[in-house]
Amino acid sequence: MTDTLFSKIIRREIPADIVYEDDLCLAFRDIDPQAPLHILLIPKQPIVKIADATESNQSVLGHLLLKAGEIAKEQGYADAFRLVINNGEGAGQTVFHLHIHILAGRAFSWPAG
Ligand code: AMP
Repeated sequence: MTDTLFSKIIRREIPADIVYEDDLCLAFRDIDPQAPLHILLIPKQPIVKIADATESNQSVLGHLLLKAGEIAKEQGYADAFRLVINNGEGAGQTVFHLHIHILAGRAFSWPAG
């Protein structure tokens, strides 16, 4: 996998507003927030996109979902939040290091745009 700006954030080579970190993942505020709460949660292990994940990634993927819920709750949005994963350019993925968008604080329509 080629180096992405998210790898640089993990290595502290570029700044980010980090809200959570552990051995497996890092969460930081999106630079262009699409909701009052917009956090990106990434695995430290470089996975390009969710379609590239394998069984060897099962435990980190479960960890990310658990942490996404905890982070949304800790940020004060236990009742309503949305998790989004864009997979591939056609779905809007622009950074090719797997990330979960944690969005909250406004109304969300369905189906998603
Ligand atoms: P996606 O389009 O799903 O690949 O999401 C990439 C996200 O990364 C977008 O929401 C961008 O606003 C966000 N982003 C890009 N550069 C940075 C950065 N340096 N720090 C924080 N978020 C960023």
